[in-house]
Amino acid sequence: MSSFVTHLEAAIDGTRLPHDRLQTVHEGRPLWVRYDLDLVGAAVTRAEVERREPTLWRYRELLPVERDENVVSLGEGMTPLVRCERLGRELGLENLWIKDESRLPTGSFKARGLVMAVSRARELGVERVAIPTAGNAGGALAAYAARAGMEAFVLMPEDTPVVNRYEAALFGARVFLVDGLISDCGAMIAAGTEEMGWFDCSTLKEPYRIEGKKTMGLELAEQLGWRLPGSILYPTGGGTGLIGMWKAFAELETLGWLEDTARPRMYACQSDGCAPIVNAFEAGTKHAEPVADAHTIASGLRVPKAVGDFMILDAVRESGGAARSAPEAELVPWMRRASAAEGISLCPETGACLAVLADLVAEGAIDRKEEIVVFNTGAAQKYVEAMEVELPRLSTTSPPDWRRWTLAN
Ligand SMILES: *Cc1c(COP(=O)(O)O)cnc(C)c1O
Repeated sequence: MSSFVTHLEAAIDGTRLPHDRLQTVHEGRPLWVRYDLDLVGAAVTRAEVERREPTLWRYRELLPVERDENVVSLGEGMTPLVRCERLGRELGLENLWIKDESRLPTGSFKARGLVMAVSRARELGVERVAIPTAGNAGGALAAYAARAGMEAFVLMPEDTPVVNRYEAALFGARVFLVDGLISDCGAMIAAGTEEMGWFDCSTLKEPYRIEGKKTMGLELAEQLGWRLPGSILYPTGGGTGLIGMWKAFAELETLGWLEDTARPRMYACQSDGCAPIVNAFEAGTKHAEPVADAHTIASGLRVPKAVGDFMILDAVRESGGAARSAPEAELVPWMRRASAAEGISLCPETGACLAVLADLVAEGAIDRKEEIVVFNTGAAQKYVEAMEVELPRLSTTSPPDWRRWTLAN
């Protein structure tokens, strides 16, 4: 099939751009992908979607790839929406759910965005891709580039989690460690474009990663019987996922696929070690000021300056939600506490959401009966630095004396 895309639209001023060639940004700001939703609605029904394979490609008509043979898939399965009663009780909530994105290829939801970016790049003839990454995006790009037979260049700060460094190299990418932040890596890639001839897959600097991440919102709606929860807590770095979900909800509403069009409050959660979106939300500004010395163990949140800042802020404000930060020191304790309570492999980014959620409950900003969905955007296994605890040693010769154990965590 061909796609139902009509054009690309500059988010900053509405300028229309054609989608049949490579596009990056307009006035330095991101592009929306626009579809003919009347045609989509005539081509497919909810019931047909429900009968398809449980991968993100079941929403094919709402995705931008033109020809099926250009889809570069590793089997991007629908992720489970897991009810968390024990954790909910700890937080004083009756209806808490985690959407567990750690099950995707390369162990994070970055797969959703990059499968789309790489598929479209291949469709438009790209052979070499590059990405600046604070962590998981590099691994996901490297995996999909390998799958597509493309060359990949990955630039990451020196303090990127060790698994992210290794996985990108494992998938055959050329990996470089940069003495600087992700924004410095991004500047180096931009500067190298002409000489190296690579296509820049930076967050929101090409139009299709949003479309991939949009599928989180489509899946969530379908999993809830075509309606939406009361609140969504989302760990926000570049914001692609939050922006994408908000777009998904609008498209579903236009299609008439939602049983109830009430939208969730969107909570953009950050660490107080890097909270540009929270600062802008509180200051009431359209754009966010870059953060000077960004630091957080949640590498996905270590984004000092987001090109889509205004898109995140618009969605959060429209939704009646908020941008909130959690104390950096609380991320890993929440990650551990929630992982232990539920058996879900949680990343420290999600720890930020849980710390924010606890505050919201304490303030009475969230109703205890409300349906709340927290996104677990990556697997704990990717953050050995955050997981490391000293485990008691087992003797191999005599049975351990359990009473004498001191617990490390
Ligand atoms: C990249 C990343 C984020 C932030 O995602 P955005 O959609 O760019 O805001 C959050 N969590 C993890 C684990 C990530 O890898």
